[in-house]
Amino acid sequence: MTVAQKLQDDVVAGGICTGCGACVALDPAGRARMVDTPLGPQPDFAGADLPELAWQVCPGKGVDYAALYHAHYGQLPENWLLGCHQRVRTGHSADETIRRAGASGGVITHTLIYLLENKLVDAAIVVRQGVPEPLLARAVIARSRAEILAAAQSVYIPVATLDLLPQLTPGERYALVCLPDQAAALRQLQHAGHPAAQQIKFVLGPYTGTALYPAAITCFLRSRRVPKNDVVTSLKWRAGEWPGYLEIRTAAGRVLTSKKIYYNFLIPFFITQNSLQSMDFTNEFCDLSVGDAWSPRFEALGGGHSVITTRTPEMEAIIAAMERTGLLKTEPEDAAASLAMHGHMLDFKKRGSYIRNRLRRRFGRAAPEYGLRPDPLPKSRWAVEFVVSFLFLVGGTRVARKILEWIPESVIGPLFNRLRLLWKGWSKPVKRKGLGTLTLTPVSKLGKID
Ligand SMILES: Cc1cc2nc3c(=O)[nH]c(=O)nc-3n(C[C@H](O)[C@H](O)[C@H](O)COP(=O)(O)OP(=O)(O)OC[C@H]3O[C@@H](n4cnc5c(N)ncnc54)[C@H](O)[C@@H]3O)c2cc1C
Ligand code: SF4
Repeated sequence: MTVAQKLQDDVVAGGICTGCGACVALDPAGRARMVDTPLGPQPDFAGADLPELAWQVCPGKGVDYAALYHAHYGQLPENWLLGCHQRVRTGHSADETIRRAGASGGVITHTLIYLLENKLVDAAIVVRQGVPEPLLARAVIARSRAEILAAAQSVYIPVATLDLLPQLTPGERYALVCLPDQAAALRQLQHAGHPAAQQIKFVLGPYTGTALYPAAITCFLRSRRVPKNDVVTSLKWRAGEWPGYLEIRTAAGRVLTSKKIYYNFLIPFFITQNSLQSMDFTNEFCDLSVGDAWSPRFEALGGGHSVITTRTPEMEAIIAAMERTGLLKTEPEDAAASLAMHGHMLDFKKRGSYIRNRLRRRFGRAAPEYGLRPDPLPKSRWAVEFVVSFLFLVGGTRVARKILEWIPESVIGPLFNRLRLLWKGWSKPVKRKGLGTLTLTPVSKLGKID
C-alpha cells in the first residue's frame, strides 16, 4: 500500500484528518493539494507518491507525544496541563490599535510585527479570514506590519497552514502561526531535517479549544433568514470589544451580530472532529502560546487580556525585551494558577479527548493514537463524557442542524448559555477532580507504515 493510499484510507476516509496540510507539502511532484470540503480543508493526493515521512508526521493518525517532548524539549513536561514552558504572564499589546485588532490582547500580532521589524524573520505565515472570499480563510505570507495586522483575530473554521511550506523562498526565515496539530507536525518535520520546515524560526499559536465546520455559518445565516442571493461580504469572528462578537455583513447591507458567548450554541452542532480528538489545548509545541485571560478581574476591566506562555529561552528573551521596551504590558502569572482560567477546556482535552478516542475505537471508528494515558481517570469522568459525546453525536446529525435553523438565535443563544453554565456548574466537581495533579503516562509507540 502506498503512503498516500494509507493516509486516504486510514485518516481521511476515517474522518480523523485534521487538515494540517503536511502530507501535501511532502509531495515531491507538487500535484497533491488541499481542497475545501464541508469538513474543512482535506488533501487531494492526485496519485502522489508520498514519502514515509508523510505518514510519520501526520497528526490525524496520531502523534507520539512522549517521543516528541523528548526530541523537542529534551524532557517530558513537569506540568502536563501546560506542557514544557519557560514563563507565564497575563497582558496585552501596549499599542491600542493592535490590542483592539487582536482576538484577546493582540499579543500574537504584536510579537509577529516585532519579529519582522527587528529582522528576526523575513515574513510571517498567518491565517486570514476572507481569503479568497469572505466565507473562506487561508494561510497567507505577510511581509509588512499592515499585512500582519490585517490577519489579526481568531479564525474558528479549519485552515491548513503546512501546505504552504513548498512556497517558502529558500534562504528566508519565517514565523508561523498555527494550531496544535500543525505545530506537532511541523516539529516532527523539523526534527526530520525537512528544509522548508527548518526555515520556520518561530512558531506562535493560540490556545485551541474548539473550531467549527464551515456549515455553522450557513446555518447561522439561515437562522437569521438571510436569502441565498444576499451574499456575505465580510465576516469577523471576534469584532468589537473583547471578548468580541461574530459580525457578518451582506451585500444588501445587513449587519448580523452575535455575542461570542451566544454563538457558542453552534459548538455542539458543528464542532470539528479535530477539536474532539486533540489532547493539546495550550499549543504545547509553539515557542509562544497565547489564550484569552478568562478571569472575573480581566473580564471586568475589559479591553482585551491574554494569557501568554513562553516555551523556549529565545522566545522568553523576545517577550522580556518587548516588555522592557514598553511594547507589551504584562504581569507575571503563576503557571499553576493560570490554568484555573481554562480548567474546563483543559479537562475537555486531556481527559475528554482520551475517552472520546477510546470510544471511537471501541465502536470500530478510526481514532488518533497519542501514546499517553491520563491519570487519574475516575469512572465518574467517563460517565460525564458519555453525556457530552451523546450530545455531540445528536447535535451533529442533519435533523438536529435543520431544527437549529428554525430556532431564533435570540432564544437559542441565551438558552444555550444558561444550559452551558448549569452543565459546567454541575459537572465541575467531576471534571476538576484530580485535574490539578493530572499526569499523562506514556503507554505505546506509534506503528510505522506496513
Ligand atoms: C480555533 C481556535 C480556538 C480557540 N479556542 C480558545 C479557547 O478555547 N480558549 C482560549 O483562551 N483561547 C482560544 N483561542 C485563542 C484566542 O481566540 C486568541 O487567538 C488568543 O487569545 C490570541 O489572541 P491575540 O489577541 O494574541 O491574537 P491576535 O493578535 O488576534 O493574533 C491571532 C493570530 O492567529 C492567527 N490565526 C487565527 N486563526 C487561526 C487559525 N485557525 N489557525 C492558525 N492561525 C490562526 C491569525 O492569523 C493571527 O496572526 C482559540 C483560537 C482559535 C483559532
Ligand atoms: S492530518 Fe494532515 S498530514 Fe494527515 S492526512 Fe490530514 S492533511 Fe495530511
